[in-house]
Amino acid sequence: MRKLIAGNWKMSCYGGEAIELTEQINAGLEANPDLGLDAELLICPPYLYTGIVQSVLGPVSDVLVGAQDCALSENGAHTGDISASMLVDAGCEMVILGHSERRQNHEESDDLIAEKAERAFEAGLKVILCVGESAAERDAGNAEEIVGAQIDNANFEGADANKVVIAYEPVWAIGTGKTASVDDVESMHGFIRGKLQEKLAYGSDIRILYGGSVKPDNAKALLSVPNVDGALIGGASLNAESFLAIAQAGIDAAEQMAAE
Ligand code: PEP
Repeated sequence: MRKLIAGNWKMSCYGGEAIELTEQINAGLEANPDLGLDAELLICPPYLYTGIVQSVLGPVSDVLVGAQDCALSENGAHTGDISASMLVDAGCEMVILGHSERRQNHEESDDLIAEKAERAFEAGLKVILCVGESAAERDAGNAEEIVGAQIDNANFEGADANKVVIAYEPVWAIGTGKTASVDDVESMHGFIRGKLQEKLAYGSDIRILYGGSVKPDNAKALLSVPNVDGALIGGASLNAESFLAIAQAGIDAAEQMAAE
């Protein structure tokens, strides 16, 4: 299975920067076309720029475009919201749901995230569902309990292995420069895999990404861990060279694992 290398640009670039970054990704892929074939690449710009990014990527690109959230409702009187079907209309293929910044800043609950997932699946979007524990929860020894509950409360109706991706993102590792240790990642990803297998016939085939301060210099070690099927990247995805270096690390890790 190809590793999914997903960039979450958050609210960290303006239109001109989004164009420049996309042009740099295009140039990197032109120089090394295998990168876009041997890894699955996704970029999630701010809503406003998804169309601009699509047009800079061009009609035939190996890079998918996604969004960072979607509305709870399908359409109508919801000022300021963007629906899942609007995202599909705008050419998005995936949506990130339940990112810890949305859980924290917008008080998004598991129930609300499950409803958004329903809208996304109905509209034909693939969902990257983020789960992860806070530092206090890990220190208290509750990391698996928290992540397990987030998965138990998730909505998989209308999903299959191709439509849903789990991103394990320990909250304390996001944007902090701290990453979970390889042992902790292996143990949590194994736990998540077990839960998915328990709940779903296709649980063995769902991709599980790691997210939290993934950088070119730690990517290969993290992406070589069993059950790590890709990465969700914030800061390092804002630099084309770093983003593509992480993709290359994913390809190298997959090749090495296949050879072992
Ligand atoms: C994220 O925002 O999902 C993320 C993992 O950010 P960073 O890579 O900057 O830690």
